[in-house]
Amino acid sequence: MSKYRIAVIPGDGIGTEVTDSACKVLDAVSARFGHTFEYKTLLAGGCSIDAYGVALTPETLEECKKSDSVLLGAVGGPKWDDLPGSQRPERALLDLRGGLELFANLRPAILYRQLSSASPLKEENLKNGIDIMIVRELTGGLYFGDRGRRDGGNMPDGTPKGVEAYDTEAYSEAEIERIVRVGFELAMGRKKKLTSVDKANILESSRLWREVNERIAKEYPEVEYEYYYVDNASMQLVRRPGDFDVMVTTNMFGDILSDEAGMITGSIGMLPSASLGKPGTPGMYEPVHGSAPDIAGQDKANPCAAILSAAMMLRWSFGLTEEANCIEKAIEKTLENGYRTPDIAYTTDCIRVGTREMTARVIESIV
Ligand code: NAD
Repeated sequence: MSKYRIAVIPGDGIGTEVTDSACKVLDAVSARFGHTFEYKTLLAGGCSIDAYGVALTPETLEECKKSDSVLLGAVGGPKWDDLPGSQRPERALLDLRGGLELFANLRPAILYRQLSSASPLKEENLKNGIDIMIVRELTGGLYFGDRGRRDGGNMPDGTPKGVEAYDTEAYSEAEIERIVRVGFELAMGRKKKLTSVDKANILESSRLWREVNERIAKEYPEVEYEYYYVDNASMQLVRRPGDFDVMVTTNMFGDILSDEAGMITGSIGMLPSASLGKPGTPGMYEPVHGSAPDIAGQDKANPCAAILSAAMMLRWSFGLTEEANCIEKAIEKTLENGYRTPDIAYTTDCIRVGTREMTARVIESIV
């Protein structure tokens, strides 16, 4: 029997509804397996701006650092849309990622057999199913490199270019090595296949990326290792998604490929994520979707992404594999039994339910 302290950040919009569902499911797991999950509810995002004037207070970040793990709903909404970028609710996400030093973003893309009609791909492209783990570097590369604006000088014909804007992609060996190791370790626990994605035919940072990947690959002889240029990877993802297992890539390429992989599985309401730092430090777990203001407070949100994020937390932060499997199986069973929130109710024979009933049906399969 173990005790775990979880910082719960419901955030805004449907974030509050889906984190409530995830905590109820965790309570069911604790009742069945005899663990204690202790929740500390914290404000971040728009609700924190309303209460404290900033999206994330230093005190909230400190509480997160003191916890064993962080479970987040979603932040943002039209109420705060007119604020300048640095003061918007989404700032809380960047500050949490930075403050907790979360450098690895794990985004599983799984096609549930029961939801295969949701995929925009043809059946022939789905014959091997989809079960991909995208591992995205989260704190380096183009999104954190030197950027700015300057005078662009002249075109070759002498025409002034006007203002020129630039962003810089920079990666160090150490930054590449730590994310690649996460990828290989994950591959060892899965189908032992890793695809590294870069643009080494053009970018120097990608050439270093590939060199480091090839060096680390030698330490994992059991893992089948391959590399793709990002343009080819994005094509192959839609042509034969079933051939991929773990994909490890840079911040920007991961941002794009993880959305593509998520899209081909169907609904945004089914996609969880994990962001991890050094072993022994708290990870952050959150659904991929946003605060969905269009359906907030109407009992329409699909809680599965948040519930699956809680399952990832059990697996990756607490090492509770059996408990994580139990949640994932309960989701599948609920889908198998025909229950669907409106976003995944594609067929007429399904049983349409709201957030609360969907959660209750998942819990039914756990206790
Ligand atoms: P969104 O993900 O909130 O919604 C996009 C569409 O998907 C909407 O039609 C919504 O109803 C639907 N949807 C999303 N999650 C769903 C769920 N669980 N069940 C059923 N339907 C669901 O994206 P958006 O509309 O672009 O953004 C809304 C707000 O959320 C914005 O303020 C944005 O900045 C913020 N946002 C936050 C995060 C985050 O907190 N990680 C991520 C993305 C967007």
